[in-house]
Amino acid sequence: MIRYYVFFILSLILLQACSQDSPADAQQNNAGDQDSPRISPADAAITSPVIVYSSRQEHLIKPMFDRFTEETGIEVQYQTGEEGPLIARLQAEGEMTFADMLYTVDAGYLWTAADRGLLAPLESEVLQNNIPAHLRDPQGRWFGLSVRARTIVYARDRVEPSELSSYEALTEPRWQGRLCLRTSKEVYNMSLVATMIERHGEAAAQDIVEGWVANLAAPVFSSDNLVLEAIAAGQCDVGLVNSYYLGRKIAEDPEYPVALFWANQDSSGTHVNISGAGVTRHAQNPQGARRLIEWLSTQEPQEMFSELNLEYPANPEVMPTAIVRDWGSFNQDQINVEAAGRRQAEAVMLMDRADYR
Ligand code: FE
Repeated sequence: MIRYYVFFILSLILLQACSQDSPADAQQNNAGDQDSPRISPADAAITSPVIVYSSRQEHLIKPMFDRFTEETGIEVQYQTGEEGPLIARLQAEGEMTFADMLYTVDAGYLWTAADRGLLAPLESEVLQNNIPAHLRDPQGRWFGLSVRARTIVYARDRVEPSELSSYEALTEPRWQGRLCLRTSKEVYNMSLVATMIERHGEAAAQDIVEGWVANLAAPVFSSDNLVLEAIAAGQCDVGLVNSYYLGRKIAEDPEYPVALFWANQDSSGTHVNISGAGVTRHAQNPQGARRLIEWLSTQEPQEMFSELNLEYPANPEVMPTAIVRDWGSFNQDQINVEAAGRRQAEAVMLMDRADYR
């Protein structure tokens, strides 16, 4: 409780510092924008800034927020931090919160924020048209804005793609001593296993996880990057990572010795997760937050998500950036990503029982 209080006071100071800087900027922006015929009357009516609590780093969000301000005249202020503390802070601040919008990575966190009543439902035709149903909350409290695919990667020189098929098949004896995984303590793997519980039921999901553990070539790694590096170094032959980590390696070295395989294309589709956002329950500027989330689902910012972090646009009408496009299109798992949150606790316990550390 004391920690929340300190957080709260700290954020007051920080936001005050922010807003002391910002009126001049804001006025400057607005003055420039009033001359601009591009700004719609609806946008011009939103005169206060949108305040975003974001778990995404500044270099990923700032370019988009700047474009938004340019296009709409609506200013955006943000505070970045880790998902857990940001959600705890939103909860502790209650009605007093500054945040109009929560923007995080992983549906599990968005589900938690919604489950704690921190997000307001939004009925938006724009978002319903732009974001497929499996990538948004059935109750409209959060919306996926970019897609992150967690799939199979393999050593080019030691594995034929024809040997690969699905997450489930990585339990086969042929992969014994050849599989590398990131720790189960990481939310990406919790989400993957949560989805497997949703699809196969708990007993079958546990068999699959135990099968992976039996095939491990090395103790689990702390990051997706280390999994890729272990495959590149010959320590193992196959692994599971989010595709953008491989994209970054390939951007540095087009000859990188690890390749991507789209898992489960003959069955359930590749596991996907999202970065996404919702309007906070106690937003002072819900119209501004709504406008920002809707705007983020449109063409230009959707392309920027892909360019800035090599993710996939959530809007299926928008093409991903070149490196990502080279991997071809793939079928996504259609289970709603909310399962990642709803079954997260079960997934954590299951992985523990299966000795997946
Ligand atoms: Fe990541």
